[in-house]
Amino acid sequence: MTSTIQSASGPVAASEAATAQYVPPPCPICAGPGNPCFISGPHKMYRCAECRTAFVAPMPSPEYLADFYSNYHVGTNYACEEKMQAHHPRQLADVRKFTGGSPGRILDVGCGKGHFLRHVADEGIDCAGVELSDTGAEYARRELRLNVLQGNIGDRKSELGHFDTVTLWGVIEHLANPVQVLRDAADVLRPGGHLFLHTGIGDDWFDRLLPGVNQWYDPPQHLFVFSAPGLRRCMAEAGFDTIHLDPAYHGSLTNRIIRRVRCAVVGTGLRVVCTLGGVRGGEFAMTRFPVGNHMLGVGKKR
Ligand SMILES: [Zn+2]
Repeated sequence: MTSTIQSASGPVAASEAATAQYVPPPCPICAGPGNPCFISGPHKMYRCAECRTAFVAPMPSPEYLADFYSNYHVGTNYACEEKMQAHHPRQLADVRKFTGGSPGRILDVGCGKGHFLRHVADEGIDCAGVELSDTGAEYARRELRLNVLQGNIGDRKSELGHFDTVTLWGVIEHLANPVQVLRDAADVLRPGGHLFLHTGIGDDWFDRLLPGVNQWYDPPQHLFVFSAPGLRRCMAEAGFDTIHLDPAYHGSLTNRIIRRVRCAVVGTGLRVVCTLGGVRGGEFAMTRFPVGNHMLGVGKKR
């Protein structure tokens, strides 16, 4: 593991790792030791030596995160919305595929403004949502006429009722305690119910090609960058068996190919530049580069 913490503004010596009293922060997923990995502003990321998941430590306070997300769904801060909506038919198709065509009642956790749920409801499927952002939940209720509660699933699960399928699209990486949220999801699911998770993947071939370029390393927005084994472990800790894990989930086959080629070209090109220039990857502010792979995890409640 690297002994240098990479920074968006330049390399920072990991002096803390060299001091005798240094205690690696434990991985919130598997309790393995975290090695210094990356710094972005005031946030330090570590990579678990066991499950290879990258995580922020110390975790920002609930008050800090509430303030950060207070305007997240307002105006242009949620600019990817239209792009995300284009994926909803494919996402629902995948839900149908792994639930034998009958997803039953669906809960979307972190539903944002509710566009995925609107698509689900338009298909005649019973559904509900829970969303931390008051502006997002309000929009879903008022503009899209959906059954969406504001808050976190742990606080609202008694009001939400029971479901056959739970989805978290691009949500788990934002959570300070993802295992607990998945346990809450398990609580509202019937035995044998399905969980669908979509998130950026770390420690994959692209991440290893040029560490730090992957767009998912973006705290405090992203508090975790899961590896494939890390996501499996997270689901297992919450009571789910992973029945499917796709480490290159990009919708259509065409998008999958485009994304892989783009990652390979950008990663290889920057790798060559860094090698020829004697520059380490972490010396660039590259983390917002729109490259990196998505993964889809599908779990079944035990
Ligand atoms: Zn771990």
